[in-house]
Amino acid sequence: MSARRIVIAIDGPAGAGKSTLARRLAERLGFTYIDTGAMYRAVALWALRQNMDLTDAHRMEQLAAASSIDFRPQVILNGEDVSAAIRTPEVSAAASTVAALAGVRRALVARQREIAASTSVVMEGRDIGTVVFPGADVKIFLDADPAERLRRRAAETGASPGSLAGQMQERDQRDRGRAESPLVQAPDALYLDSTGLSLEEAEEAILRVIRAKTSNGKEFS
Ligand code: C5P
Repeated sequence: MSARRIVIAIDGPAGAGKSTLARRLAERLGFTYIDTGAMYRAVALWALRQNMDLTDAHRMEQLAAASSIDFRPQVILNGEDVSAAIRTPEVSAAASTVAALAGVRRALVARQREIAASTSVVMEGRDIGTVVFPGADVKIFLDADPAERLRRRAAETGASPGSLAGQMQERDQRDRGRAESPLVQAPDALYLDSTGLSLEEAEEAILRVIRAKTSNGKEFS
């Protein structure tokens, strides 16, 4: 008897701690960790390298559809390890620009669904619980105070909080305000504010929800 596949969706703004938590949870549960932001970043990187117009919806969709993106767990774009190259401020801004395009989202969402068809996943992004997997087993909306999100992002990237503030605010506004799959909490998602929580506390809080919603004596695949 094959066990049921599980989808854990973690959405929220930049710097809320999604990546660290999602990666740890996936490890604990033996699920596949999928960072969907890395997919938008990879498409943006490819477009920037070719000096393409990021607002050209048709060409961006073609690019997204033609891109090959793998997680090993390094992020591999068309055979090249781009794990570091996709983390620059320039790529962050470009990713949120191309992510506003419906065609780009269509191409990448199809891949995200394909991955989860064969394995249980912890998938993090902006629209996982609302659009990619509205029927996800567990949905978490992970948030934190803007000042705390800025501090964490600065610690991660080594950049000064002052230099990051404007970029982060602009990106958040674009992600929340766009017409296509905006960043919004799914009505059935658990809202978790990680501001005052340690990594371990946030992890335990999410694990409790996962256990309550998915165990019932069943095994995960
Ligand atoms: O999560 P991360 O900050 O790496 O995402 C980069 C950008 O990709 C986000 O600012 C957002 O515009 C876009 N994104 C998205 N939908 C997702 C994941 C990321 O629109 N599911």
